[in-house]
Amino acid sequence: MAQREWVEQDFYKELGVSSDAGADEIKKAYRKLARELHPDANPGNTQAEERFKRVSEAHAVLSDPAKRKEYDETRRLFGGAGRFGTGGGGFGTGGFGNAAGGSGGFSFSDIFDGAASGGGGGFGDIFEGLFNRAGAGAGPGPGPQPSRPRRGNDLESEITLGFRDATLGVTTPITLTSPSPCTTCHGSGAKPGTSPRVCQTCNGSGLVSRNQGAFSFSEPCPDCRGSGSVIDDPCTDCQGTGVTVRTRTVNVKIPPGVSDGQRIRLAGQGQAGMRGAPSGDLFVTVHVGGDDVFSRNGDDLLVTLPVSFSELALGATVTVPTLGQPVGVKIPAGTTDGRTLRVRGRGVPKRSGGHGDLLVKVQVTVPGSLDERAQEALRTYAEAERAGGFDPRSGWAGA
Ligand SMILES: [Zn+2]
Ligand SMILES: [Zn+2]
Repeated sequence: MAQREWVEQDFYKELGVSSDAGADEIKKAYRKLARELHPDANPGNTQAEERFKRVSEAHAVLSDPAKRKEYDETRRLFGGAGRFGTGGGGFGTGGFGNAAGGSGGFSFSDIFDGAASGGGGGFGDIFEGLFNRAGAGAGPGPGPQPSRPRRGNDLESEITLGFRDATLGVTTPITLTSPSPCTTCHGSGAKPGTSPRVCQTCNGSGLVSRNQGAFSFSEPCPDCRGSGSVIDDPCTDCQGTGVTVRTRTVNVKIPPGVSDGQRIRLAGQGQAGMRGAPSGDLFVTVHVGGDDVFSRNGDDLLVTLPVSFSELALGATVTVPTLGQPVGVKIPAGTTDGRTLRVRGRGVPKRSGGHGDLLVKVQVTVPGSLDERAQEALRTYAEAERAGGFDPRSGWAGA
């Protein structure tokens, strides 16, 4: 009997005993049921005959200590009857489509190997191992699925952008050397003019069954190594893999407003899959350089604007650079040094649309030397200031 069927059946329930029943109890229960259900005692009763068969099966397994141990272990691993047997419920992973479907997408021997070496560890470990070995063969839904070649690996790359490019967005080329689809055979692995054929050993399923005693195992087909197809005339440039390592240039479109450390995914630009399988993805980590004029705080663009004392005191309109057109910023009369003025919507483009703000911080610049006329004017001003009662240190804690 295939082991999968073991999982689906509850032999204990069949015999009407608990799962910790002793050998005597099992024997007694079986004898009683066998007498009741025996075909001689129930001529023409097909229901009784069916039950008699199931009870006999149950007894055959539970009365043999080795088989019973294996049965218990199997059910323990799968969390009880029917957990994945019939396609309903189950683990919800795509990979189980095969297991549920009939010919089986994986081999029980893998499970037991995993359980033995891992000391009966969690499902995660066991199934991870399974999927790695079985490749990406599984598809959703029941029925035997052809085992498809595995998707290519993802790639990681880095890029350093100037402040303005990162802020405004840019399309920039990056050069990668990685497994890429073979240009000669376009990734099929077959010599141009020929094509791969369906493997006859496994009929394209990529899996073969092997019987060993009471067990039936599914394992990757040895003739096509689980891929389901055979290439008679391999492409000479890629030796039939469909993949060659070469240097290629990818144009990376950087969206506006990207920030330092952000990772950008380029679907399908990773390593090529074997024999035409989909490529992996390319992940590009962006580093953003600094700028002499601007800095950023999220979507806000920061700029420090040098001003004179008189511009702050009297007020002025000053032209301020932005990442686009310069903008005229009005400094109100009596603006304090170090104050930040906000210009709405002139900052960094937002991913959600629109722009952040431009934040202009005013910073007084004091002239290092003054000519005669300016000195004279400032002295006159200083007198007027005192006469007007201005004391810069009134209200200062140190006064
Ligand atoms: Zn090729
Ligand atoms: Zn095959």
